[in-house]
Amino acid sequence: MSQIDLHTHSTASDGTYTPFELVRLARNIGLKAIALTDHDTTGGLNSALSAARNLGVEVIPGCELSVQYKGLMHILGLWVIPDAPALNAALFELRVKRNARNEVMIEKLRKAGIEVTYEEIKRLAGDAAIGRPHICRVLMNKGSVSSVQEAFDRFLGPNGKAYVPKEKFDPEKAISMLKNEQATVILAHPFSMSLQQNELRKELIRLKDLGLDGVEVFYPEHTKDQTSLYSSLCNELDLLPSGGSDFHGSIKPHIKLGKGTGNLNLPYSLVEAMKNRRAEQGLWT
Ligand code: AMP
Ligand code: ZN
Ligand code: FE
Ligand code: FE
Repeated sequence: MSQIDLHTHSTASDGTYTPFELVRLARNIGLKAIALTDHDTTGGLNSALSAARNLGVEVIPGCELSVQYKGLMHILGLWVIPDAPALNAALFELRVKRNARNEVMIEKLRKAGIEVTYEEIKRLAGDAAIGRPHICRVLMNKGSVSSVQEAFDRFLGPNGKAYVPKEKFDPEKAISMLKNEQATVILAHPFSMSLQQNELRKELIRLKDLGLDGVEVFYPEHTKDQTSLYSSLCNELDLLPSGGSDFHGSIKPHIKLGKGTGNLNLPYSLVEAMKNRRAEQGLWT
Protein backbone atom coordinates (compact mmCIF):
# COMPACT_ATOMS: atom_id res chain seq x y z
CA MET A 1 0.00 0.00 0.00
CA SER A 2 2.02 2.99 1.32
CA GLN A 3 0.75 5.66 -1.03
CA ILE A 4 1.66 9.32 -1.35
CA ASP A 5 0.60 12.62 -2.94
CA LEU A 6 3.34 15.17 -3.65
CA HIS A 7 1.24 18.10 -4.91
CA THR A 8 -1.52 19.60 -2.73
CA HIS A 9 -2.94 22.99 -1.78
CA SER A 10 -4.47 24.26 1.47
CA THR A 11 -6.20 27.42 2.70
CA ALA A 12 -2.73 28.98 2.94
CA SER A 13 -3.20 29.51 -0.82
CA ASP A 14 -6.22 28.60 -2.90
CA GLY A 15 -7.25 25.22 -1.45
CA THR A 16 -10.33 24.85 0.72
CA TYR A 17 -8.93 22.50 3.41
CA THR A 18 -6.83 23.95 6.22
CA PRO A 19 -3.38 22.37 6.52
CA PHE A 20 -4.64 20.39 9.53
CA GLU A 21 -7.75 19.18 7.67
CA LEU A 22 -5.61 18.19 4.70
CA VAL A 23 -3.23 16.11 6.83
CA ARG A 24 -6.19 14.57 8.66
CA LEU A 25 -7.78 13.64 5.33
CA ALA A 26 -4.48 12.11 4.23
CA ARG A 27 -4.42 10.02 7.40
CA ASN A 28 -8.07 9.02 7.03
CA ILE A 29 -7.57 7.71 3.49
CA GLY A 30 -4.37 5.92 4.51
CA LEU A 31 -1.69 7.97 2.76
CA LYS A 32 1.83 7.55 4.10
CA ALA A 33 3.16 10.93 2.91
CA ILE A 34 1.97 14.15 1.32
CA ALA A 35 3.74 17.30 0.20
CA LEU A 36 1.99 20.59 0.89
CA THR A 37 2.81 22.84 -2.06
CA ASP A 38 0.82 26.04 -1.76
CA HIS A 39 1.25 28.78 -4.36
CA ASP A 40 3.77 31.48 -3.38
CA THR A 41 3.70 30.78 0.35
CA THR A 42 5.13 28.62 3.12
CA GLY A 43 2.38 29.91 5.44
CA GLY A 44 0.67 26.52 5.88
CA LEU A 45 3.78 24.45 6.46
CA ASN A 46 4.33 24.74 10.20
CA SER A 47 0.75 23.87 10.91
CA ALA A 48 0.87 20.92 8.45
CA LEU A 49 4.11 19.70 10.06
CA SER A 50 2.65 19.79 13.54
CA ALA A 51 -0.47 17.99 12.32
CA ALA A 52 1.88 15.44 10.74
CA ARG A 53 3.54 14.78 14.09
CA ASN A 54 0.19 14.35 15.81
CA LEU A 55 -1.49 12.25 13.14
CA GLY A 56 1.39 10.05 12.00
CA VAL A 57 1.45 11.14 8.36
CA GLU A 58 4.72 12.25 6.80
CA VAL A 59 4.48 15.83 5.50
CA ILE A 60 7.09 17.10 3.07
CA PRO A 61 7.12 20.89 3.26
CA GLY A 62 6.93 22.50 -0.18
CA CYS A 63 5.64 25.33 -2.34
CA GLU A 64 4.63 25.94 -5.96
CA LEU A 65 5.80 28.83 -8.13
CA SER A 66 4.57 29.96 -11.54
CA VAL A 67 7.51 31.02 -13.67
CA GLN A 68 7.90 33.13 -16.79
CA TYR A 69 7.64 30.99 -19.91
CA LYS A 70 5.98 31.04 -23.33
CA GLY A 71 3.59 28.32 -22.10
CA LEU A 72 2.53 27.63 -18.55
CA MET A 73 5.43 26.49 -16.36
CA HIS A 74 5.12 25.71 -12.66
CA ILE A 75 7.94 24.67 -10.35
CA LEU A 76 7.57 22.77 -7.09
CA GLY A 77 10.09 23.05 -4.28
CA LEU A 78 10.05 20.06 -1.91
CA TRP A 79 11.79 20.00 1.50
CA VAL A 80 11.76 23.76 1.78
CA ILE A 81 12.45 25.17 5.23
CA PRO A 82 9.21 26.89 6.31
CA ASP A 83 10.88 29.91 7.92
CA ALA A 84 13.82 30.36 5.52
CA PRO A 85 14.30 34.16 5.40
CA ALA A 86 15.47 34.64 1.78
CA LEU A 87 12.77 32.34 0.37
CA ASN A 88 10.08 33.99 2.46
CA ALA A 89 11.19 37.46 1.38
CA ALA A 90 10.93 36.40 -2.27
CA LEU A 91 7.53 34.76 -1.75
CA PHE A 92 6.33 37.87 0.07
CA GLU A 93 7.30 39.91 -2.98
CA LEU A 94 5.19 37.58 -5.16
CA ARG A 95 2.20 37.94 -2.82
CA VAL A 96 2.48 41.74 -2.87
CA LYS A 97 2.38 41.54 -6.68
CA ARG A 98 -0.61 39.19 -6.44
CA ASN A 99 -2.48 41.77 -4.36
CA ALA A 100 -1.83 44.51 -6.91
CA ARG A 101 -3.02 42.17 -9.67
CA ASN A 102 -6.12 41.19 -7.67
CA GLU A 103 -7.04 44.86 -7.23
CA VAL A 104 -6.91 45.37 -11.00
CA MET A 105 -9.00 42.23 -11.60
CA ILE A 106 -11.62 43.47 -9.12
CA GLU A 107 -11.69 46.84 -10.89
CA LYS A 108 -12.23 45.04 -14.20
CA LEU A 109 -15.02 42.94 -12.70
CA ARG A 110 -16.73 46.10 -11.48
CA LYS A 111 -16.42 47.63 -14.95
CA ALA A 112 -18.03 44.45 -16.31
CA GLY A 113 -21.00 45.12 -14.02
CA ILE A 114 -20.19 42.73 -11.15
CA GLU A 115 -20.60 44.37 -7.76
CA VAL A 116 -17.67 43.04 -5.80
CA THR A 117 -15.00 44.58 -3.57
CA TYR A 118 -11.53 43.40 -2.63
CA GLU A 119 -12.66 43.51 1.01
CA GLU A 120 -15.12 40.68 0.30
CA ILE A 121 -12.36 38.58 -1.24
CA LYS A 122 -10.04 39.22 1.72
CA ARG A 123 -12.79 38.31 4.15
CA LEU A 124 -13.13 34.90 2.48
CA ALA A 125 -9.40 34.34 1.97
CA GLY A 126 -8.11 35.47 5.37
CA ASP A 127 -4.32 35.66 5.25
CA ALA A 128 -3.95 33.26 2.33
CA ALA A 129 -1.94 34.00 -0.81
CA ILE A 130 -4.99 35.32 -2.66
CA GLY A 131 -5.63 34.23 -6.23
CA ARG A 132 -8.30 33.75 -8.83
CA PRO A 133 -9.96 30.78 -7.07
CA HIS A 134 -10.80 33.06 -4.13
CA ILE A 135 -12.36 35.62 -6.45
CA CYS A 136 -14.21 32.76 -8.13
CA ARG A 137 -15.65 31.56 -4.82
CA VAL A 138 -16.92 35.02 -3.91
CA LEU A 139 -18.55 35.38 -7.34
CA MET A 140 -20.24 32.01 -6.83
CA ASN A 141 -21.37 32.82 -3.27
CA LYS A 142 -22.93 36.05 -4.52
CA GLY A 143 -24.63 34.28 -7.42
CA SER A 144 -22.79 36.38 -10.03
CA VAL A 145 -21.81 33.12 -11.74
CA SER A 146 -23.25 29.66 -11.36
CA SER A 147 -20.09 27.56 -11.73
CA VAL A 148 -16.31 27.65 -11.53
CA GLN A 149 -16.27 27.02 -15.25
CA GLU A 150 -18.46 30.06 -15.92
CA ALA A 151 -16.33 32.26 -13.64
CA PHE A 152 -13.16 31.33 -15.52
CA ASP A 153 -14.72 31.39 -19.00
CA ARG A 154 -16.40 34.77 -18.63
CA PHE A 155 -14.09 36.62 -16.24
CA LEU A 156 -11.01 35.01 -14.71
CA GLY A 157 -9.50 32.82 -17.44
CA PRO A 158 -7.06 34.15 -20.06
CA ASN A 159 -9.97 35.05 -22.36
CA GLY A 160 -12.11 36.48 -19.57
CA LYS A 161 -13.03 40.15 -19.14
CA ALA A 162 -11.26 40.54 -15.81
CA TYR A 163 -8.07 38.60 -16.57
CA VAL A 164 -4.73 40.09 -15.63
CA PRO A 165 -1.53 38.07 -16.09
CA LYS A 166 0.47 37.26 -12.97
CA GLU A 167 3.95 38.63 -12.23
CA LYS A 168 6.40 35.72 -12.19
CA PHE A 169 10.08 35.02 -11.63
CA ASP A 170 12.21 33.62 -14.43
CA PRO A 171 12.86 29.86 -14.17
CA GLU A 172 16.53 30.71 -13.45
CA LYS A 173 15.65 32.82 -10.44
CA ALA A 174 12.98 30.45 -9.10
CA ILE A 175 15.20 27.38 -9.37
CA SER A 176 18.32 29.01 -7.92
CA MET A 177 16.30 30.48 -5.07
CA LEU A 178 14.87 27.04 -4.19
CA LYS A 179 18.24 25.31 -4.58
CA ASN A 180 19.83 27.90 -2.27
CA GLU A 181 17.28 26.80 0.32
CA GLN A 182 18.25 23.13 -0.18
CA ALA A 183 14.94 22.23 -1.81
CA THR A 184 14.41 19.40 -4.28
CA VAL A 185 13.13 21.13 -7.42
CA ILE A 186 10.45 19.44 -9.52
CA LEU A 187 8.91 20.59 -12.80
CA ALA A 188 5.13 20.44 -12.17
CA HIS A 189 2.60 19.03 -14.68
CA PRO A 190 4.82 19.31 -17.80
CA PHE A 191 1.84 18.86 -20.15
CA SER A 192 0.93 22.49 -19.41
CA MET A 193 4.02 23.72 -21.25
CA SER A 194 2.49 22.40 -24.50
CA LEU A 195 5.82 21.28 -25.98
CA GLN A 196 6.62 18.65 -28.57
CA GLN A 197 8.75 15.77 -27.34
CA ASN A 198 12.01 17.17 -28.72
CA GLU A 199 11.42 20.66 -27.40
CA LEU A 200 10.52 19.27 -23.99
CA ARG A 201 13.69 17.19 -23.95
CA LYS A 202 15.80 20.28 -24.70
CA GLU A 203 13.94 22.30 -22.09
CA LEU A 204 14.50 19.59 -19.45
CA ILE A 205 18.21 19.58 -20.22
CA ARG A 206 18.31 23.37 -19.81
CA LEU A 207 16.34 23.23 -16.56
CA LYS A 208 18.53 20.43 -15.23
CA ASP A 209 21.58 22.63 -15.84
CA LEU A 210 19.84 25.26 -13.73
CA GLY A 211 19.36 22.74 -10.90
CA LEU A 212 16.13 20.89 -11.66
CA ASP A 213 15.99 17.56 -9.79
CA GLY A 214 12.85 15.94 -11.11
CA VAL A 215 9.63 15.97 -13.08
CA GLU A 216 6.02 15.45 -12.04
CA VAL A 217 5.43 12.41 -14.24
CA PHE A 218 2.18 11.31 -12.57
CA TYR A 219 -0.60 13.92 -12.68
CA PRO A 220 -4.38 13.62 -13.19
CA GLU A 221 -4.38 15.45 -16.52
CA HIS A 222 -1.55 13.44 -18.07
CA THR A 223 -2.53 10.89 -20.68
CA LYS A 224 -0.97 7.42 -20.67
CA ASP A 225 1.32 8.47 -23.51
CA GLN A 226 2.42 11.62 -21.73
CA THR A 227 3.08 9.68 -18.53
CA SER A 228 5.26 7.16 -20.33
CA LEU A 229 7.08 9.89 -22.26
CA TYR A 230 7.86 11.87 -19.10
CA SER A 231 8.88 8.70 -17.35
CA SER A 232 11.34 7.73 -20.06
CA LEU A 233 12.75 11.27 -20.21
CA CYS A 234 13.37 11.03 -16.46
CA ASN A 235 15.24 7.77 -16.99
CA GLU A 236 17.26 9.13 -19.86
CA LEU A 237 18.17 12.43 -18.18
CA ASP A 238 18.57 11.08 -14.64
CA LEU A 239 15.72 13.17 -13.27
CA LEU A 240 13.58 12.01 -10.35
CA PRO A 241 9.98 11.07 -11.18
CA SER A 242 7.38 12.71 -8.94
CA GLY A 243 3.61 12.71 -8.85
CA GLY A 244 0.64 14.37 -7.24
CA SER A 245 -3.03 15.15 -7.56
CA ASP A 246 -2.91 18.97 -7.26
CA PHE A 247 -5.69 18.60 -4.70
CA HIS A 248 -7.48 21.92 -3.98
CA GLY A 249 -10.57 20.66 -2.09
CA SER A 250 -14.07 21.75 -3.07
CA ILE A 251 -12.95 24.37 -5.61
CA LYS A 252 -11.78 21.44 -7.80
CA PRO A 253 -14.25 18.75 -6.64
CA HIS A 254 -13.31 16.26 -9.38
CA ILE A 255 -9.77 15.94 -7.93
CA LYS A 256 -9.43 13.60 -4.93
CA LEU A 257 -6.45 13.56 -2.59
CA GLY A 258 -4.11 10.70 -3.47
CA LYS A 259 -6.39 9.57 -6.30
CA GLY A 260 -6.66 12.50 -8.71
CA THR A 261 -9.53 11.74 -11.06
CA GLY A 262 -9.35 8.02 -10.39
CA ASN A 263 -6.44 5.83 -9.52
CA LEU A 264 -3.31 7.89 -9.25
CA ASN A 265 -2.11 5.61 -6.40
CA LEU A 266 1.50 6.68 -6.15
CA PRO A 267 4.02 4.47 -4.34
CA TYR A 268 6.22 5.66 -1.47
CA SER A 269 9.25 4.50 -3.48
CA LEU A 270 9.12 7.87 -5.30
CA VAL A 271 9.84 9.59 -1.96
CA GLU A 272 12.56 7.08 -1.12
CA ALA A 273 14.33 7.81 -4.40
CA MET A 274 14.14 11.53 -3.65
CA LYS A 275 15.52 11.01 -0.16
CA ASN A 276 18.37 8.91 -1.54
CA ARG A 277 19.19 11.67 -4.01
CA ARG A 278 19.05 14.26 -1.25
CA ALA A 279 21.40 12.16 0.87
CA GLU A 280 23.84 12.02 -2.07
CA GLN A 281 23.53 15.80 -2.35
CA GLY A 282 24.26 16.18 1.36
CA LEU A 283 20.80 17.60 2.11
CA TRP A 284 18.47 16.98 5.06
CA THR A 285 15.38 14.78 4.71
P1 AMP B 1 -3.70 32.39 -9.89
O1 AMP B 1 -2.51 31.82 -9.21
O2 AMP B 1 -4.35 33.49 -9.10
O3 AMP B 1 -3.44 32.79 -11.32
O4 AMP B 1 -4.77 31.22 -9.95
C1 AMP B 1 -4.37 29.99 -10.50
C2 AMP B 1 -5.24 28.90 -9.97
O5 AMP B 1 -6.55 29.06 -10.49
C3 AMP B 1 -4.80 27.52 -10.41
O6 AMP B 1 -3.89 26.96 -9.49
C4 AMP B 1 -6.08 26.76 -10.37
O7 AMP B 1 -6.29 26.31 -9.06
C5 AMP B 1 -7.12 27.79 -10.71
N1 AMP B 1 -7.59 27.77 -12.10
C6 AMP B 1 -6.98 28.27 -13.19
N2 AMP B 1 -7.74 28.07 -14.30
C7 AMP B 1 -8.86 27.44 -13.88
C8 AMP B 1 -10.03 26.97 -14.52
N3 AMP B 1 -10.24 27.12 -15.83
N4 AMP B 1 -10.96 26.35 -13.76
C9 AMP B 1 -10.78 26.20 -12.42
N5 AMP B 1 -9.70 26.62 -11.77
C10 AMP B 1 -8.75 27.23 -12.47
ZN1 ZN C 1 -4.17 26.59 -7.22
FE1 FE D 1 0.34 24.25 -11.01
FE1 FE E 1 -0.84 23.21 -7.89
